[in-house]
Amino acid sequence: MGQANIEYERLFDSSDLSERESLRIMQQKVWGFFCEDIEKHGFSVREGQQNMALDIADAIANKQHLIVEAGVGIGKSFAYIVPLLLFHKQFKRPIVISTSTITLQEQLVEDIIQITKILNYPIRIVVAKGQTHYVCRKKTDELSDDKLRCCLIKSIDNGAVERAHLSNDLPDSIWNSICITNYGAKPCKNCSYYNECYFTILRKEMKKTNQAIVCNHDLLTAHLKKMRDLYTGLLPNECPVIVIDEAHNLEEKVRSSLTREYTKGEIIDCASFASNAANKQGTDIEHTLGSLNSHLNKCYDILNKQVDDQINRNEAQIETGRFFFVPSKEIMDEIQRVSNVLIDLNEKIQMHIKSNISDQQNMVVDSFSEIAEYFSNLKNIDENIGWIERIESNATSLKMCICPRNLSEEINELFFSARHICILTSATLTNKHTGSCEEMYRYLVSNIGFPNESDFCKIKGILAEPKASPFSYDKHTLLYCANDLPHPTKYRDEFIKAGSLRIAELLHLSDGRALILFTAKSDMNYVYDLLLSMNLPYTLLQSNTGASQESVLAQFRSDRTSVLLGTGAYWEGINIIGESLTNVIVFKLPFPVPDPIIKDKCDKATDPLLEILVPEMIIKLNQGIGRLIRSEDDKGIVSIIDSRLSEGNNAPYRKMVWDSLPIKNKTSDLCVLQKFYNRVFVQ
Ligand code: SF4
Repeated sequence: MGQANIEYERLFDSSDLSERESLRIMQQKVWGFFCEDIEKHGFSVREGQQNMALDIADAIANKQHLIVEAGVGIGKSFAYIVPLLLFHKQFKRPIVISTSTITLQEQLVEDIIQITKILNYPIRIVVAKGQTHYVCRKKTDELSDDKLRCCLIKSIDNGAVERAHLSNDLPDSIWNSICITNYGAKPCKNCSYYNECYFTILRKEMKKTNQAIVCNHDLLTAHLKKMRDLYTGLLPNECPVIVIDEAHNLEEKVRSSLTREYTKGEIIDCASFASNAANKQGTDIEHTLGSLNSHLNKCYDILNKQVDDQINRNEAQIETGRFFFVPSKEIMDEIQRVSNVLIDLNEKIQMHIKSNISDQQNMVVDSFSEIAEYFSNLKNIDENIGWIERIESNATSLKMCICPRNLSEEINELFFSARHICILTSATLTNKHTGSCEEMYRYLVSNIGFPNESDFCKIKGILAEPKASPFSYDKHTLLYCANDLPHPTKYRDEFIKAGSLRIAELLHLSDGRALILFTAKSDMNYVYDLLLSMNLPYTLLQSNTGASQESVLAQFRSDRTSVLLGTGAYWEGINIIGESLTNVIVFKLPFPVPDPIIKDKCDKATDPLLEILVPEMIIKLNQGIGRLIRSEDDKGIVSIIDSRLSEGNNAPYRKMVWDSLPIKNKTSDLCVLQKFYNRVFVQ
């Protein structure tokens, strides 16, 4: 057991009266803040917020992990920041809040500052982003373009540390060549900028113990992984309470942190750089390199063919870019050969390594050893999920990816160990809104290995009653569900044509001001072209034009009647308050695309539709619908064009979906919808 555990247990030692008393004081103050003084602080009483804050205070005092769903508008950040700050006031231990986007990190800092003023309890706040968000001064010196280099160095010397500070239109290719990617490796140790490097300073700041740390899920995962493997992490070793906001993203973020991926070019480059660190004379390193090259070519050719076959069969995963890895005898034999050559080459390099190699070469040799290990893991497809990623038809962009199959066990070990307690929250954590908490949170709990109350572990997991949104959905919203359109997957073309005409009617009804959400880019492009051909009197904006999400949203807000067609990130995390958005249109029920990750989950389920696909769809649908009502005064309509939810349809998930949605009033009659819309906007 590491030092961190000892510290943690001392903090929550139930025999220590002073600590128990401090926890009791923290609970009492949380109660006072939300149940007695909230209006004095200028806020309205919100039952969901009160209950959430009290649940969190109880979880901290009782040393329990907690999951709590917080409906839109209950003020969840205040509900956890207040208990955290009051905990900090009693114990002077670091508090950590993790969220999934930079925008939310920045918003949280403002919220913390606001509450520290109310509590009259100032605290240091450190915002910790991943290393790739910061510029490396040393790499900038190595840029070949003199003009660009001088310009960037001038900005860095004037205090620019992030991409947005340097320039708004720095291309990805330039940014990728100058951002920090391997901080702490040997080049950093010999770097003349080491002491003034912003990331060096930030790393030291992150380790300080008496503060609030606002980080993202990637950084938190990296910290917890280091803590598990090395007993020391990126944040203070002892962080007794961690809040994970936007926890519906946790599984995906941990998966991407634990996924290893390589292109053929990366492996060959690394092998040849690493072999330059060895004394090749009298060895057959060059010959082994040649052999590696030819086996890798064969291996990646087979993988490319697997992708082509899936594209030719027009399989849906083209949308996600994640293709199935088919473990045929042909590819497994080739992987075995590549793996043997990699191990052989690695041994030869290690045996003949030159005595005076540079730090950079040392680093490359280490990376090459990792690649040799990675490839041997590919043979073990029982313990790992492998898949292939490729950008369109670019064969050289093909990546072989691998991540642990037992992700829920990994998350359990990293996040729900005895080192700290985790509070998980988000507006969409439940897969249904009826039944017991175990039933409502079942999908999340199983995906992240959340411990239950009866698990034999030191820190139990508690599921709190979901906190309903305080917004007047009944008064301010109406849900329209089309009941007369063709089936969206069985008759795709007919559905898209009829669906586009229905969308045009809905846009006339709300005079534009709509967000149309798609799960497939191909559907979005098709509908965009059809709407364009109708010469509608609204500006049509699309999410996939290459412009940043921020600039697309700025345009959408400023052009009041514009219509935005979006996929992916547009389903969640965008906040458009007011009359620019009064109509959210869901084109198709957002069932997940059957990619390798989803397939693996389905393979393990007894009823893949109801256990995996429907819960995934419900969580995403609620995220999308949640874009409409962002404040007490927001009003509007939600339309689901997909007739699978309509009365006459006997889909087994219909009731489950309707029960889970916050909007209960619904219609399939466009006249009723029009009347409702006119009424709420005349009032
Ligand atoms: S310390 Fe490392 S990250 Fe910082 S400037 Fe030097 S090489 Fe770049």
